[in-house]
Amino acid sequence: MKQFGPIVGWRNYKQTHALCGCVCVACKKKYYPKKYLCSCGSIEFEKKRFLGKGMLLTFTSIGSRCLGLVMLEEGVKILAQITDVKLCDLYIGMPVRAVFRLLSEDGPEGIIHYGIKFVPIQKA
Ligand SMILES: [Zn+2]
Repeated sequence: MKQFGPIVGWRNYKQTHALCGCVCVACKKKYYPKKYLCSCGSIEFEKKRFLGKGMLLTFTSIGSRCLGLVMLEEGVKILAQITDVKLCDLYIGMPVRAVFRLLSEDGPEGIIHYGIKFVPIQKA
């Protein structure tokens, strides 16, 4: 069964905790977070909600945290904390999904600005 875990209850979150980006009307380029000027020069965008499933492109550790660059299935890159996994278990190309966590859980470092983190997609 195909299911996107983070969707459960996500409508209850504020907009800032959802993966809401936009897509350029002119060139169809997708952005997350939202932009107001596209690289093609257009300022016309449509809202786009990303599913939050993607692949780990690269990662690093900051203290005890893992920070990863994730390429979403929709073709957008997001820099976010990778959580619920040990650094030594991470690998390039690892399938991950977004989870929405309260910003306050991220502590005073402010590494994550969007209230999202990524967790590995468990193989059932
Ligand atoms: Zn554009």
